[in-house]
Amino acid sequence: MTPGATRAQGSYWSELSGIYRIITTINAVTTYYQQPQGTVLIVCDGEATLTKSMNQWTSNPLDKQFDIIHAIKAGIRQTKITWKSKHIKGHQEQVALLLCDKARWNDEMDKVAKKHWEHIQTNPDPPINSLLGKPWELWLDDKKVSTTVKSQLLEHTCGQAAQNYWSNKTRFNGMDTKSIDWTAIHKVVTGMTIKQRWWTTKFVTRFCMTGQRMHQWGKRETATCPHCKHETETMVHILQCLHPGVQTISDSCIKDL
Ligand SMILES: [Zn+2]
Repeated sequence: MTPGATRAQGSYWSELSGIYRIITTINAVTTYYQQPQGTVLIVCDGEATLTKSMNQWTSNPLDKQFDIIHAIKAGIRQTKITWKSKHIKGHQEQVALLLCDKARWNDEMDKVAKKHWEHIQTNPDPPINSLLGKPWELWLDDKKVSTTVKSQLLEHTCGQAAQNYWSNKTRFNGMDTKSIDWTAIHKVVTGMTIKQRWWTTKFVTRFCMTGQRMHQWGKRETATCPHCKHETETMVHILQCLHPGVQTISDSCIKDL
């Protein structure tokens, strides 16, 4: 029932799929009965899901799971039905004895969905990648892209080329780039401040304003360390320079990051 590859599955995707299925089913019924009018109320315990899929705005390709959101909006536009939505708290059965119909139906649907989830663990359905009303599809390496389009496109078009470039510059110390834990690095980098990211990028690519670089760029007459007068001020030298004033400057710069 739920479209998309296994890796795309999750609670947000499942809620969107539920709304998508309701709309495609209602559309099929209204087409059969030659477009009658009426009102359909969609109740869901995912507030963000309702907001993203049922609002009046056009879908944004930068949104997570934008393809199914777009298909939902396209489905809404196809009928004369008035679509309404209502957010309701989930799992109320555990905390309240008397439930309104909508809360009870929501809990019942939740139970059915869990039962189906258990069933497909042992009897997996083939992935359904086709969505009615989709504007276009993006596939990279035989995988359909439905989220983080910008970063996936960047990775696909430039990722390997960038790795090869820096590998040829011997910046990975002879390591195979496949053995580097890029996911862990991404996690660390995204936790940094923007200044720390700039500094890290400059440091690892060796594009800092060292004496060596400044001399290369014609900004200084020599590559000498301005503190201890070492012949060549490189990135490594900046970290190892024993001049008494360097530590104070270094501490102050790190604090400023
Ligand atoms: Zn020095």
